[in-house]
Amino acid sequence: MKKIEHIGIAVKDLEASNQVFAALLGKPHYKIEAVESEGVRTSFFETGPNKIELLEAISPNSPIAKFIERKGEGIHHIAFAVDDLEAEIERLVSQGFTILNTTPKKGADNKLVAFLHPKSTNGVLIELCQEIKS
Ligand code: ZN
Repeated sequence: MKKIEHIGIAVKDLEASNQVFAALLGKPHYKIEAVESEGVRTSFFETGPNKIELLEAISPNSPIAKFIERKGEGIHHIAFAVDDLEAEIERLVSQGFTILNTTPKKGADNKLVAFLHPKSTNGVLIELCQEIKS
């Protein structure tokens, strides 16, 4: 894994949280993007080599809606950048980690993504993401 690509934060109100994080970081988000398949709307902020991703549920079945229901707002996942997602999935499966989707799927911000079950990573949801090269 190359670096922490972003930290995902579950929020109830994306517009309100965009204001909070713009004030915190001293600059506005650079994009808002809905990922319909996940039932979320996201916004991204740059912080040096890393990013902050805010996630708001757009459907009651969204994993973010369920997360907020259980735990409230807060850190939802940590995402690591990888060069070869399929190879990383294979490596982690062989190490005994539970991968939620062993077939990479399209995530926000032009990435292919896969998630590790928090049960196998000390309660932290881990996202692996690989830049989609156009
Ligand atoms: Zn993410």
